[in-house]
Parts: sequence; C-alpha cells; structure tokens
Amino acid sequence: MVRPHVILVTFPAQGHINPSLTFAKTLLRNGIEVTFATSLCAQRRMAKAAGDITNGITFAAFSDGYDDGFKPSDDPEHYMRELRNRGSETLRDTILASAEQGRPITCLVYTLLLPWAAAVAREVHIPSALLWIQPATVLDIYYYYFNGYGEEINNSSDDPSWAIQLPRLPLLAKRDLPSFMLPASGGDQYKFALPTFKEQLETLDAETKPKVLVNTFDALEPDALKAIEDYELIGIGPLIPSAFLDGKDPLDKTVGGDLFHKSDDYLQWLNSKPESSVVYVSFGSLLRLPKVQLEEIAKGLLECGRPFLWVIRVNENQEEEKEDDKLSCLDELEKLGKIVPWCSQLEVLTHPSLGCFVTHCGWNSTLESLSGAVPLVAFPQWTDQGTNAKLIQDVWRTGLRVNPREDGTVDSDEIKSPRIARVPRL
Ligand code: UDP
Repeated sequence: MVRPHVILVTFPAQGHINPSLTFAKTLLRNGIEVTFATSLCAQRRMAKAAGDITNGITFAAFSDGYDDGFKPSDDPEHYMRELRNRGSETLRDTILASAEQGRPITCLVYTLLLPWAAAVAREVHIPSALLWIQPATVLDIYYYYFNGYGEEINNSSDDPSWAIQLPRLPLLAKRDLPSFMLPASGGDQYKFALPTFKEQLETLDAETKPKVLVNTFDALEPDALKAIEDYELIGIGPLIPSAFLDGKDPLDKTVGGDLFHKSDDYLQWLNSKPESSVVYVSFGSLLRLPKVQLEEIAKGLLECGRPFLWVIRVNENQEEEKEDDKLSCLDELEKLGKIVPWCSQLEVLTHPSLGCFVTHCGWNSTLESLSGAVPLVAFPQWTDQGTNAKLIQDVWRTGLRVNPREDGTVDSDEIKSPRIARVPRL
C-alpha cells in the first residue's frame, strides 16, 4: 500500500509557517509523510532557526522571485503574481518528481492566500484541502460578505452605532470586520487581498461540501464552526507545539521562528521578576508601528511602572536605521524593562513572571495566549485582528481592547491604565 504523503504549501510569513509546521509534525507523528513547500527565503530562515524541526520533513523550497525577502518598499501585487506563477510551476514539478521517485503525493494542503495551489492539485488529480489559519469566525465573515451581505457591509456608515448581525456570529461593529473589507483602513497596497479571498471561496464552492481544516477548536468557536452549511469546517487546533500544549513531547519547542537573534538573556531577565508582574508587548512578525505610536506605547509603559518585555522588530533588510527612529526615552525604558528584536514567544507566554500581553491580536498570538492563560490588552491593526479583538473582549472575555483616536493612534493613557493595571490573571 502507498504510504500517505501530504504536500503542505505555506505562504511564507511567520504567522502561516508556525501553525503549518506544527500541523506537519502532527501528520508525521501519525505516520504520514510530509513535504513542506514554501519560499526559499522562508525556508532559509527556518533552517537557521530550526535544527530538529526539519527531522523527518522533506522541504521543497521554491523561489518566489524575492529570495532576499519582501521589503516594505516592494509592491505586494507584483509579489503575489510572482508567487502564484513561480509557486504553481514548482509545485507541479515537485508533485510529478515525487511520483517518479516512488513517493507519490496523495493530498495537498495549502494555507491562506494560495488558491492557485488547489488548481495545481486539480490539474495533477490529487485531492486538496485548505488549512485556514485564522478563526472560523473570520472565514464565516468572508463567506457572508461574498454570499449576500457584501452590499450591507460596503454601505456601512461611519456612525459608531452601525453594526451587522450575521447568522450565528456575534453582533459586529465596523472595527470588528476584517480590514480588507473596509477600503479606507485596508489601504490600496493590499487591494489584491479581497479578490484573493473571493477566489479562495470560489475554489471551495467548486466542490460539494468541501472540508476545511481550521486552526481552532470546538469549545472556542462552536457556532462559527457550524455557520456555513455548504462547507464542513473541522477544528484541528490549536496548532501549538506539543511542549507548550499537552507536554507529550517536551522537546518539541521549536516553531520555526526566525530566530535571527538567538540571545535568550530576556529569559534570565524574566526569571528575576516577581510572579505575574511583567507586561509583554509584541505586534507579531510583520507589523512595524509608526514612530508616533511607539512613543505613545513607551510613555504608557513608563507611566504604568511595571517591568515590561517589548519586542520591536529590527530592520531585516539592512535598510539603514535613521537616528530619528530611536525612541526618545530609551534610557528610562531600559531601566524599567527590556526591548528585544525577537523572542521565543511561547516561552515568554508560559513564564511565571508574565502578567499580561499587549498584542496586535494575530491569530497565533491569540491562541498562544489563550493556551497560556495570559490576559490580553487587545491592540488590533489590520486583517483579521479586529475580529480577533472582538472575540477576545466580548466573547471569551480574556482581554480588553484599546480605543484609538480618530487618526488611528492609541494614546499612552489607553495603554497605561486601567487596561494593563487591572486585567486579571486568568
Ligand atoms: N513570534 C515569536 N516571537 C516574536 C514575535 C512573534 O515567536 O518576537 C511568533 C508568535 O509566537 C506567533 C507568530 O510569531 O507564533 C506570529 O503570528 P501571529 O499570527 O500572532 O502574528 P503575525 O506575525 O502573523 O502578524
């Protein structure tokens, strides 16, 4: 009998790679062969960080034309076209080559923003499944947007009392909707996103009752998982390494993080702090906040007076850092807290000295903090984060959401108190 062999195709962003790798390891543990396909650049980053995570997984990296990484000045639309063209071609070749080597691929699993991967699977006659790495609620909202509710959402007014009731979902205000549905906040740069989600849903619609694997679990989103009658959503999460989740595999601590900075002196620093005292601040692997926002956060942290660990991403593309980029109160900040360019977030979230997490509400960060029972200060920016913040504050009640000014900046007062000071430990 042919051994099942899954090719897992992942968009090359950290928030997509981490849950996909955890999923790959689960498949491996169940005796399924796994080939992991992502861009060359992401693959190099993982190889630097990984060591043992690659054990047993075959990697099939492809060039997306951006082998040195996507820079903030690059054009996302051009990037998506290159990714699609080059990705489809190499994916097809990899599948055919595997068959020739006597290890035929029996199923293709792909993450968000890659509907073309399903087209390749159809072409070479293998089944495919979408691995949805955002909450089921967000998939539902996209589904409703393209199935009867788009006009109502497009006509949403700026009246703060505007809200929409979608079947089986909580009442959603405008700020709770995925940002790509709201042209003003999504920005023109990302206008490819909504059509890509549309294409994704059309791809699913071409099948009868397609199964979608969702990085969530039944108790977390019981209604959202059942909201779409045409699809079968299956909660297979939370996709978090075993060492942090069930402890069954205590060595399994790696998630393919881009550990450019391997220093772990922040862990020593955390060890020196009292229990539940530290404020952890991180906005994930992609976002770079404007200087004015960083200054407000800095002010809020200083006024709050609690020790903090703050991840501020450094420039990975060696673009020169300007003197103006430096925070004005850096000396005071360094006396009270620690600023790092990257950390092993799961180790931080499970550390006893951690008190709360000021987060952009990326879905992985949200799930990781739920698993670690860490209360949140929800500070969403774009894509699914507004929806995640809604779920955090109003549905699961594991955190409080900050309120931005009209220009989008969140004032130091919002960050300082009572939000950080009074969020209870779960
Ligand atoms: N992460 C990390 N260290 C950091 C920042 C992020 O290990 O300093 C990890 C985090 O644990 C999560 C992923 O990177 O698994 C970020 O995913 P998320 O969905 O939260 O946000 P995104 O980066 O996609 O915006």
